[in-house]
Amino acid sequence: MNDFNTLRVLVTGGAGFIGSHLCEALLTQGAKVAVLDNFDPFYPRASKEQNLAFCRSLPGFSLVEGDLRDADLVGRLFGEFRPQAVVHLAARAGVRPSLDDPALYADVNVRGTTVLLEAAHLTGVKNFVFASSSSVYGNRNTVPFRESDNTDFAVSPYGATKKAGEVLCHSYHQVYGISTACLRFFTVYGPRQRPDLAIRKFVRLALAGESIPVFGDGTTRRDYTHVRDILTGILGAIRWGQSPEPRYGIFNLGSSHPIELRELISLIGDCIGHPVETKSLPFQPGDVVQTFADSSLAEQELGFKHDVNFRDGLKDFVAWMKQQTEG
Ligand code: NAD
Repeated sequence: MNDFNTLRVLVTGGAGFIGSHLCEALLTQGAKVAVLDNFDPFYPRASKEQNLAFCRSLPGFSLVEGDLRDADLVGRLFGEFRPQAVVHLAARAGVRPSLDDPALYADVNVRGTTVLLEAAHLTGVKNFVFASSSSVYGNRNTVPFRESDNTDFAVSPYGATKKAGEVLCHSYHQVYGISTACLRFFTVYGPRQRPDLAIRKFVRLALAGESIPVFGDGTTRRDYTHVRDILTGILGAIRWGQSPEPRYGIFNLGSSHPIELRELISLIGDCIGHPVETKSLPFQPGDVVQTFADSSLAEQELGFKHDVNFRDGLKDFVAWMKQQTEG
């Protein structure tokens, strides 16, 4: 049985990296997908248009270009499209850039999420999936990170907005019975990855023969998670939210195989066929020393599975990067 056939799903941020992959997965399984995206200038519109190219060719796809914070527009969209599920991915993403414009991050990520939840409540939508982040964990020495860990100590405004989003989702669940899955993504990579993220930046520099900046001593580590695995988690979360009883859950979606920065750089060298130059720079404020997910809850409840081995995922990613003109 296909759970998504004819299901109407609103995907905010659907023109982005993760969103465009999700839309393709839903559309190819027969869902009707409306994307709300404002083609935010954080990175070029041309990349997002390219992300959407395949979706545009599939039946059941529609795009509303607009801002999540525009309550009238969002209200009209909910009224006309009548989504049965919402996957809320639109956000200002990124840890370091959030230090430069924290008010904008708060506005888009917190007010925008509130506008969306309110529209869901007013139109009776009961299935809501929220893109949270490993950034809510802040700097923790104890690993792996579990959903039950204290997350009151984010170290970036971005992380703080994601925590606020989770709490807002909880309040709408509590008061209005909206089922909500808050998914804490751990550094997602794969084709179409955001240009500000380390793997993409590093591969671009390495392919251009330039040196890679190493912030700190190279021992920071990240739980890199392939976008294909993330999709399994998101689709599982939509299914989970179809239950007749309202539910609220927070789930880590991570590979549980953290990779040190210096190992990442050496693996990139292996993939491109020669060692890469590095340059040492000081540790960046807002960065955390490590991320490491315990994803067992998502495995049990959502059918999440870490399938894509990092070396294979990186090799594919380098192949994809070689086809890109702008990096
Ligand atoms: P992305 O920037 O590629 O996609 C986000 C999309 O949201 C973009 O297309 C952008 O135009 C849109 N958007 C931004 N502001 C908007 C607004 N005001 N109104 C409407 N649309 C708006 O980012 P991504 O990497 O695909 O991330 C998707 C979600 O996952 C985000 O919520 C992000 O915080 C979260 N997340 C991502 C990662 C990761 O490693 N990529 C890790 C943790 C959490």
